[in-house]
This record gives sequence, C-alpha cells and structure tokens, in this order.
Amino acid sequence: MKLLEGKTAIITGGSRGIGKGIVETFAKHGANVAFTYNSSQEAAEALAEEVSKEGVKAKAYKSNAASFEESQELAAAVLEEFGSIDILVNNAGITKDNLLMRISEEDFDTVIEVNLKSVFNMTKAVQRAMLKQRKGSIINMSSVVGVKGNAGQTNYAASKAGILGFTKSVALELGSRDIRCNAIAPGFIETEMTGKLDEAVVQGWREAIPLKRGGSPEDIANACVFLGSDLSAYITGQVLNVDGGMLT
Ligand code: NAP
Repeated sequence: MKLLEGKTAIITGGSRGIGKGIVETFAKHGANVAFTYNSSQEAAEALAEEVSKEGVKAKAYKSNAASFEESQELAAAVLEEFGSIDILVNNAGITKDNLLMRISEEDFDTVIEVNLKSVFNMTKAVQRAMLKQRKGSIINMSSVVGVKGNAGQTNYAASKAGILGFTKSVALELGSRDIRCNAIAPGFIETEMTGKLDEAVVQGWREAIPLKRGGSPEDIANACVFLGSDLSAYITGQVLNVDGGMLT
C-alpha cells in the first residue's frame, strides 16, 4: 500500500544517512521528492535518478539550510517545479562535539544555525503554500539528546531541544489550518558516520538498547511516512522517540 501517493515532500539533507533513507522510503510510498544537500552533489544526483525508477518525480537541490534566503528560493523553486508542498522533513543536521570548556563560540553558533535556525527557515518558507492548501505535515528531526541532554554535546543538545519547543509552538499556531507539526527523536542510528567508529564501542551501545540493536535509516523513515501520511491525521505537537527503547 502506497501511503504518500500524489504528495510532494521536501527533505533537507537527503544525500546521505537518515535523509537518504527518507527519500528512498517516501519514493517507494509514491511521494514526489525534492531533497537538498550541502556538498555531496554526485551522491545526491545519483539518488534522484535511482528513486525516479519508482515512477515518482525526484530532484536534488543544493541549498544551505542555514540560509534564510536559500530556503526561500528552494521553496519557490519546488513549488514551481512540483506544484505543491505537502510534507516538509527538516532533517539536515551536523555535530561539532566538544566539552563546554573547549567549545568555541563559532562551533556553538554554527550548530545552532544549521540544526535549529534551518528549521525556522524552511518552515517559514513553506508556510504560505501550506496555508493556501489548508493542509500540510511538518516533521522535524530532533534527537534523544534533545530530550535528555548529553555531556560533550551542549551545542547539539541545545539545537535539538530548541526544535522541540519550535515544533510544539508551530503545532499550536497552525493547527486550525490542518497543518500538523511533529518531531522525531532518533536514538542511535547506524549510518556511514557511525560505521567509522570503533566496533567494540558500538557493540557496547547496541547492548545497552532494550531492542539490542542500533536503528537503521529505514526505521526513522518509516516513522516519517506515518507522520507525513493521513494515518497520523489527528497527531500534532508530539515528539516520537524512535530509539529501540533507549529512553524508556
Ligand atoms: P549525516 O549522515 O551526517 O547526513 C547529514 C545530511 O545533512 C547530509 O545529507 C548533508 O549533506 C546534510 N547537510 C549538512 N549540513 C547541511 C546544510 N547546511 N544544508 C543542507 N544540508 C546539510 O547525518 P545523519 O546521521 O543522517 O543525521 C540526520 C539527522 O538526524 C540530523 O539532523 C541528525 O542530528 C539527526 N540524528 C541522527 C542520529 C544518528 O544516530 N545518526 C541520531 C539522532 C538524530 P552533504 O552530504 O552534502 O554534506
């Protein structure tokens, strides 16, 4: 069953990791996908070509999520090319981990701009189109770290916790127009990035998770399909932990 047939989705940071999984899974569910990347042009274009084989429209855009202007331009270009914007997944994110003692002002600001201000930029950029349609679903990628905090990640945790306040406020502001806004808090998701970590350390993390494994990009993508589809029509302002029970 295709749950997103005929819908158009913008996914930020779709060239790798979780975002790539969301692009692939959304296309399998019939969504037309417009996704962004920062520098991985080749990977992004290959992905667009690959998912087009599902019979959907797919296009990769180079767009810095931290830029207000580029976000406005992206939304306008997608609207022109695709005709509507039904789902927005604010997935783009970075880490610049360090202890508070060592973290620089620049690394704090950069993480807030790429992870949190980007969510403001893109939500504002699609708001008008969704208001006109009187329908829309916005999904923001937070983290268990935004819910719980984490030593060595003050910048990242603050950005991810900020997303939760933003999500709930947007849900309250736009609910009367049938625009829903929810957040996902992934736990430990195994991507290319985590593939570079020491296997013994990673195995220790897996054993500490109630479901005894790290999550996959597809686990997060499936939650996005649910929140983007009409199956979640009465759900807004919520934070869905997709973490194998990590925070339980
Ligand atoms: P990733 O593999 O590092 O991929 C990040 C994606 O974001 C890439 O497509 C990258 O594009 C894009 N990106 C980075 N900066 C950008 C910018 N300024 N503008 C537009 N796109 C930008 O990360 P991931 O592990 O898949 O994580 C995806 C999201 O889930 C992030 O928000 C992350 O905080 C969150 N999350 C991840 C985990 C985990 O365990 N992996 C856990 C909790 C939450 P390029 O390829 O061009 O660089």
